Amino acid sequence: MTSDCAVTIVCCTTSVQHTRKLGGAVATQSDTGDVIVLVGDLGAGKTAFTQGFAQALGVTVPVTSPTFTLANRYQTDGEMVLNHLDVYRFDQLEEAHDLALPELLDEGIMLVEWGDTILALLPPDYLKVTIRFGFGDDDRMLEVKGFGAKWQERAKGLHEALKQWYQPC
Ligand code: ADP
Ligand code: MG
Repeated sequence: MTSDCAVTIVCCTTSVQHTRKLGGAVATQSDTGDVIVLVGDLGAGKTAFTQGFAQALGVTVPVTSPTFTLANRYQTDGEMVLNHLDVYRFDQLEEAHDLALPELLDEGIMLVEWGDTILALLPPDYLKVTIRFGFGDDDRMLEVKGFGAKWQERAKGLHEALKQWYQPC
C-alpha cells in the first residue's frame, strides 16, 4: 500500500440516518473495483455507513454486520455486486487470503469493516472512512480519505457530494 493520500474530507453527522445518507452520497461517487475501508471502534457506525451505501445502489434487502459470515454479498440494481466484509476477528493476514479478494473486487465494490488491518492485501487505490465518536451520544466525526490516482480524479465530485456534512462537531 504505497499510494499517497489524494483527498481528505472531514464531516460530522448527528444521527444514524445522517451517517447512512452520507454513505449513500459516497456510493454515488463509487464504481466497480472500488474498495472502501471502514475504520472505527465497535458501534462507531461502520455498518450504518454501509447500509446507506448499499441502499443508494439499490440493495433492497436489509444490510447487517457480517461479523460471523466474513463476507455478505448484495446485488445492486445495476450489474455490480456489493461485498461487505468484516475482518475484525482475523488474527493473521493469512486468514484474509482465504477470502479471494481479487475475485470479489472483479464483481463490483467492496466495503471492509476494520479493513486497515488487511491494507497490505488491498489495491493501492482505496477510500478510507474513519469514524470517531463525538461529544453527544449520536455525534460522529467521519474522516474520508482517498488514496491513489482513482480518488484524486474524483476529489472534486466527492467534495461536492459531501459538502452538506462539512461542519464543526
Ligand atoms: P459498527 O459497525 O461501527 O460497529 P454500527 O453501525 O453497527 O457500528 O452501529 C452504530 C450504532 O450507533 C447504531 O446503534 C446507531 O444507531 C448508533 N448511532 C448513533 N448515532 C450515530 C451516528 N451519527 N452515526 C452512526 N451511528 C450512530
Ligand atoms: Mg459493524
